[in-house]
Amino acid sequence: MNSNQEVVNSANSSVNTSMLISTSNTNSLASSSSNSATSPTTLSRYENQKRRDWNTFGQYLRNHRPPLSLARCSGAHVLEFLRYLDQFGKTKVHNQLCPFYGHPNPPAPCPCPLRQAWGSLDALIGRLRAAYEENGGKPEANPFGARAVRLYLREIRDSQSKARGISYEKKKRKRPSQMQHLPAAALLQAPPSSNLNG
Ligand SMILES: [Zn+2]
Repeated sequence: MNSNQEVVNSANSSVNTSMLISTSNTNSLASSSSNSATSPTTLSRYENQKRRDWNTFGQYLRNHRPPLSLARCSGAHVLEFLRYLDQFGKTKVHNQLCPFYGHPNPPAPCPCPLRQAWGSLDALIGRLRAAYEENGGKPEANPFGARAVRLYLREIRDSQSKARGISYEKKKRKRPSQMQHLPAAALLQAPPSSNLNG
């Protein structure tokens, strides 16, 4: 049951938050997205991604119930945002009862949930942290740099590492087959629509 739903989810929307903006069919988050960014063509991929992430987070705040302003946003809200994003995840994270727990290349399907991969979340937080300060936020008040967020990411890294039988230590190792489906990879391959230099 669950897995069906997740398959549908992953077909509709990819891991990356940018997809939350570009696919306007999924949920309320996307509802107000149409007139936001006037897609910049002069920025690097990283800058573009950062801007999309920032817009996505802004929409998340606007759709938040009860209403939440950026100024009142804490590390706890950032964690809430990260958990919210898990529903768009495409990375199988085995629970401890699954026979494939700790198995990097499971030989068969299993009903374990799909989540955002630690690496995606870690990179996302890095971009949002930078964007926050570029948009006038004070470093000492940066919710993306909150201790709770760091701890959460570390916890995710450790638990996913165990659940998926993958080591994140030191440099990134080549990832086993499952990771091929990460849309981040697809995004990396997509060339920018044009190359104006400002
Ligand atoms: Zn499993």
